[in-house]
Amino acid sequence: VVAAVGISPEQLLPLYPVTATKIYMNLGEPDAIDKYKDLPFDGIGLMRIEFIFTDWIGYHPMYLIETKQEDFFINKLAAGVAKVAQAIYPRPVVVRFSDFRTNEFRGLKGGEKFEPDERNPMIGWRGVSRYIHPKYEAGFRLEVRAIRKVREEMGLTNVWVMFPFVRTLWEVQRVVKILEEEGLKRSKDFKVWAMAEVPSVAILADKFAEYVDGFSIGSNDLTQLVLGADRDSQILAEMGYFDERDPAVLEAIRMLIEKAHSKGATVSICGQAPSVYPEITEYLVRLGIDSISVNPDAVVSTRRLVASIERKIMLEKLDAILKKMNL
Ligand code: PEP
Ligand code: MG
Repeated sequence: VVAAVGISPEQLLPLYPVTATKIYMNLGEPDAIDKYKDLPFDGIGLMRIEFIFTDWIGYHPMYLIETKQEDFFINKLAAGVAKVAQAIYPRPVVVRFSDFRTNEFRGLKGGEKFEPDERNPMIGWRGVSRYIHPKYEAGFRLEVRAIRKVREEMGLTNVWVMFPFVRTLWEVQRVVKILEEEGLKRSKDFKVWAMAEVPSVAILADKFAEYVDGFSIGSNDLTQLVLGADRDSQILAEMGYFDERDPAVLEAIRMLIEKAHSKGATVSICGQAPSVYPEITEYLVRLGIDSISVNPDAVVSTRRLVASIERKIMLEKLDAILKKMNL
């Protein structure tokens, strides 16, 4: 349609409604940014790097350290992140550190000997618990060095970072220290986020806010863990257990936003929920969420939806004021 009317996607950008809530996009494959860069998003709210691990690097980070190929890892990861950051500069790219489970890490070349065989990898040695353990800390440090290279050597200071599967305050304290030891300190233009996908983060968000600038709700894992319902269980899904609209999940989200905002931390969401359920988007906007990050195919519709919700809220407020004034 755009080609037919003779205007470029870039020229379309100003035609999309401006929203107070930022609209971000999720991305996994760096090259996909060529196709999507002109969509009306305010940044990448979740850049998954697992695709770079499997398709660009292929090897387990600890294997590369053992065989003295650290530079290969750093250069590949930096190139993948830089590709995206360059394409959308100065809009931010929130890069999530690796979030493979042990069974997935084991699938990388040279990976078997570095990974325990877990009965329950979904709630096992995952996310931050890996980065602070001697058996992966060196691998995590390589991930951090790749980010530092992109920010400092390549000058792409629009790259921020995010920790997945955060569980406890003490682990966040330790991982932030490692980040600082590697030369990455929180600042005005370098934000550090924690994913809120384990209920403990929602419960203690005001305490976690001491260590991070913002949170991003991983509604896929949060739903799984609030409801104790395996997100991969087909039978539970068919029975309706895996449902982000469950009141307990919504209450966890409300609590998170309230507690995070009470300490000045921002809140985003990067799980599937707002891509699927418009009523969740409305719920989030009414709670004052700062940004919503959705899949590329949902960016335009989400921006339109959020604009209409914000307008509705504004008119409701106006009505309330007029009523108070007896007008
Ligand atoms: C989530 O849990 O909602 C999320 C965005 O992370 P992933 O789906 O990659 O676990
Ligand atoms: Mg998750």
